Amino acid sequence: MAVPFNETAREYRDLQSELEAAVLGVLRGGHYVHGAEHAAFERELADFLGAGHVVGVGNGTDALEIGLRAVGTTAGREVVTAGNAGGYAAAAARAIGARVVVADVDPDSLLLDPHSAAAACTDRTAAVVVTHLYGRAADVAALRAALPPGTPVVEDCAQAIGAEVPEGRCGTLGDVGTFSFYPTKNLGALGDGGAVSCRSADVASAVRELRQYGWSERYVVGRPGGRNSRLDEVQAAALRVKLRRVAGWNARRREIGAAYAAAAEGTGLRLPAPAGGDVGHLAVGRHPRRDELARRLAELGVATAVHYPVADHRQPALDAAPGPTGAAEAERSCAEVISLPCFAYLTDAEVEQVCDAVRRSA
Ligand SMILES: *Cc1c(COP(=O)(O)O)cnc(C)c1O
Repeated sequence: MAVPFNETAREYRDLQSELEAAVLGVLRGGHYVHGAEHAAFERELADFLGAGHVVGVGNGTDALEIGLRAVGTTAGREVVTAGNAGGYAAAAARAIGARVVVADVDPDSLLLDPHSAAAACTDRTAAVVVTHLYGRAADVAALRAALPPGTPVVEDCAQAIGAEVPEGRCGTLGDVGTFSFYPTKNLGALGDGGAVSCRSADVASAVRELRQYGWSERYVVGRPGGRNSRLDEVQAAALRVKLRRVAGWNARRREIGAAYAAAAEGTGLRLPAPAGGDVGHLAVGRHPRRDELARRLAELGVATAVHYPVADHRQPALDAAPGPTGAAEAERSCAEVISLPCFAYLTDAEVEQVCDAVRRSA
């Protein structure tokens, strides 16, 4: 039996009649952008997160760019971000013309190290982006305490919808939270989608203007840096159906992550069990001979992936530079990380097959 890395069609088949009814309703209603579904989804996601404001946008990278602009990022300023988080925040910062300063990560959690981030801050710093990588909830309070007071914090929650710490859900802990609804995320659309959550009404209204040409009112461009980035009605309708399932899916992902962590014990694979507030977007371990392990797992029918193979400051065209502490741990992890199949619709037999393969190979 082959265990796929992900298979979004399983989710669709489970929700087929509900999803088809929701999409057909939009088609027949004739209102395709910024209609009732979109307004309802913004409200429902704000309730789910416990966020003051949620604004729909076109995708997770736009959410980062618009969120960064809304907290004051402009060309020539600096954005601090972890070096191992896929380069999304760096791409968004570069689109604004900001400089990217790469900070290091904690070797166990692989999340942004608050002290490395703080050391990278200067009077040119516009924002620090903390990614809740792999669905692991980062300690945003500790980060805020380490940063110079008043430094805007943007949480990249693309992999962490519903993740939480005692102070609240990810996306409500910093100034802005950004979400992606790419189809394989824990909450996935039928195409692209994204959202920005905001603590303050002023930042939320900036995001609303920036996502629609910078209009302060129809056809009046009152804010610089605007563009078109909208979440359409078909996606919003599908996302409303799936949002009702996401807490259950997150619990199943945590269960799968815990099973893999138990199987990895005593092997060469360092794979931490998800914490209670994590959402298990990816099951990622570190192994000193990662590529060899991937080959052996493939022979046993288990698909794997690497998130991510190249550190931001090693990307050929990203123009990102390490801050004063360097980013050695982030860089080292890129050669060691391996992701095991982890999605809510894996069967128990498939999870057991992965566990078995890990025990035999790692
Ligand atoms: C997927 C992802 C993004 C980008 O989202 P898109 O919707 O693909 O633009 C940003 N950050 C992280 C951490 C992601 O996993």
